[in-house]
Amino acid sequence: MPDYKTSAMTAKKKDTSKPQSATGAATGAATAPTVGLVSLGCPKALVDSERILTQLRAEGYKFSPDYDGADVVIVNTCGFLDSAKEESLNAIGEALNENGKVIVTGCMGAKPEDITKIHPKVLSVTGPHQYEAVVEAVHAAVPPSQNKFINLMPQQKEDGIGIKLTPRHYAYLKISEGCNNRCSFCIIPSLRGDLVSRPVIQVLAEAERLVKGGVKELLVISQDTSAYGVDTKYQPYPWKNRTVRTKFIDLCRELGELGAWVRLHYVYPYPHVDEVFELMNQGKVLPYIDIPFQHASPSVLKAMKRPGAGKPAPKSILGAERAGNQEKTLERIKAWRKVCPDLTIRSTFIVGFPGETEEDFQFLLDWMQEAQIDRAGCFKYEAVKGAKANEIAGAVPEEIKEERFHRFMTLQQEISAAKLKEKIGKTLPVIIDEMGAEGYTGRTQGDAPEIDGCVYVTGKGLKQGDIVNVKITGADEYDLFGEVA
Ligand code: SF4
Repeated sequence: MPDYKTSAMTAKKKDTSKPQSATGAATGAATAPTVGLVSLGCPKALVDSERILTQLRAEGYKFSPDYDGADVVIVNTCGFLDSAKEESLNAIGEALNENGKVIVTGCMGAKPEDITKIHPKVLSVTGPHQYEAVVEAVHAAVPPSQNKFINLMPQQKEDGIGIKLTPRHYAYLKISEGCNNRCSFCIIPSLRGDLVSRPVIQVLAEAERLVKGGVKELLVISQDTSAYGVDTKYQPYPWKNRTVRTKFIDLCRELGELGAWVRLHYVYPYPHVDEVFELMNQGKVLPYIDIPFQHASPSVLKAMKRPGAGKPAPKSILGAERAGNQEKTLERIKAWRKVCPDLTIRSTFIVGFPGETEEDFQFLLDWMQEAQIDRAGCFKYEAVKGAKANEIAGAVPEEIKEERFHRFMTLQQEISAAKLKEKIGKTLPVIIDEMGAEGYTGRTQGDAPEIDGCVYVTGKGLKQGDIVNVKITGADEYDLFGEVA
């Protein structure tokens, strides 16, 4: 499930110096062909960028921190919302102006004509996860070097990790592509196709390599994480003297053995998800779950065509019923918190969906109050070209969307502030992300990078990626303050 807003709200042009500085990327001879990269969109797109760069580095390409130094520029686009498409088109235009040789890939590439009618001079356009086609386009634009010393570079660094665009201490682990659902506001399935899960042993081997290479936190991502393996009929594989199925719970259990923080994103609350909270309580998986609820009103969820909405409700293992029935979802949330008292629930919501009445919206606020969602993002509905939701009657005027957005965020701030206040006086493990002149910035187990809050830590002698116990001394609406215990 794409984070409805991540694609748009955090879409930003990556500093093209990142590949080189963050990864110690190729530093071949001066004659090596050089590539620049602009990566837009969500963590899933970032993983695609990492894969393309890893392949190019293996072939001896260098990376440039600026347009001038690049022989060709790859723009990895986001096409989830119209605002993200506009940003992608602007980035392509900038790369064409500044460099001239531009290869386009990513979600927007699923409809090449949307790009070529505005930017006819791009060298090639390919869709999401078409890594080979992107690499071929680079070959055509700037052939790989014939210098044998460059070509003999190992595929991966000694630490066994390909190029990462995230800091060294955390990494996104993409477990599948595409999605079998057809939510009415979403065009991801038309861009990325139906669900295709990676074999579990491939995912586990990658996770193990990352952890051996120094990664302390694995962020599991996909469009629909809890549907993992459905397309393979949960194909089993031998792994370390046991059989592991290509299945959400098996994957979580095995990742929990690697000794890293394991954070689960984009988990749709299918009934079998209930099983994971025991693993969280055992400390195998972080007590954190990112569930994109999107709304609470049954009629809005039905119009959104969210999985399970409007269907009969089978029993789950905790005796509560499936998602879509929001009162039962509240019971499930209570049951999850009973199994795992330290649980942080993160979610995203859309307000102003076509047909959303004041009554629907008030239902959402009441549900939020009851559910006490720890971290929530709220987004005003934006019509996406090609989405079925555009055909739904009852468009909500912009000023009402705006007003609902502020009412939602005011309530969420109150919930968040109260929940963070409860942490004052506790000692919590914190992973250090950055070092500053006056202290450190880190995250508790309840905070994902980029999207959640952080902890401002005073102390000495820490470095990026350290996990330390921090005594929490203060809190505001979103962040915590503390000192090394
Ligand atoms: S169709 Fe629904 S579940 Fe699938 S990616 Fe889109 S929003 Fe997520």
